[in-house]
Amino acid sequence: MAANWKMFKTAEQARDFFRDFLPLVAGHDRDEMVVCPPYLAIPASVEACRGSAIAVGGQNLHWEKEGAFTGEISAAMLLAAGASHVIIGHSERRQFFGETDDVVNLKLKAALEAGLTPIVCVGEVLEEREAGLTEDVLRRQCLRAFHAISGKKAAKLIVAYEPVWAIGTGKTATPQMAADAHALIRSEAEKAFGEEFGQQLRILYGGSVKPENVKALMAESEIDGALVGGASLDPKSFAAIVKY
Ligand code: PEP
Repeated sequence: MAANWKMFKTAEQARDFFRDFLPLVAGHDRDEMVVCPPYLAIPASVEACRGSAIAVGGQNLHWEKEGAFTGEISAAMLLAAGASHVIIGHSERRQFFGETDDVVNLKLKAALEAGLTPIVCVGEVLEEREAGLTEDVLRRQCLRAFHAISGKKAAKLIVAYEPVWAIGTGKTATPQMAADAHALIRSEAEKAFGEEFGQQLRILYGGSVKPENVKALMAESEIDGALVGGASLDPKSFAAIVKY
């Protein structure tokens, strides 16, 4: 169960969140939990989560180890700050920052090389769904993201299916729509990394997940977890989702 805080919360606000959130999920060991704050709130989040079952992740990274890339953050910097996970290719990065499938591939390789657990986001926009292109888009995004990576290297990979029309809109894919997309992503992972890998791959659903709809989504065997944006900003609401 993963939280994407996007560009919300300072370090102090992150501390306040964990003060309230940790007691709500204490002893909850059914799900792995990861919270991805903005970079500047990562150290405070790591500190707050020390001794708990909650991991901390970044929301992005640069693919080079270091260099003249003003404003960028490397995998090693995330690790040094205490992060263990990283979101890659979120639709907001693709939409607002020009991130392409090839950039996603470079970032995925860098994250895996460094030992981070990558959460690679894929998903179609509304026009693509309405034009019947969902399968083509997901196939292309997976194929390009997984390009030239071995199954052994990809071991930690997590994929998030996030239909773009469902992100922050209050519209959710039906559990069946999500399950169909997950099955397709799984088959692409099988093609790229082998059948066993595909069967074990964890695929999260993201797009307006709320305490009210998480149970129906998680009832689908194809859905292994959730990537939660807006509803993860409030400790009670994210705890309710985690403990659905
Ligand atoms: C997200 O940012 O990955 C997301 C799914 O957002 P929301 O839950 O707000 O739709």
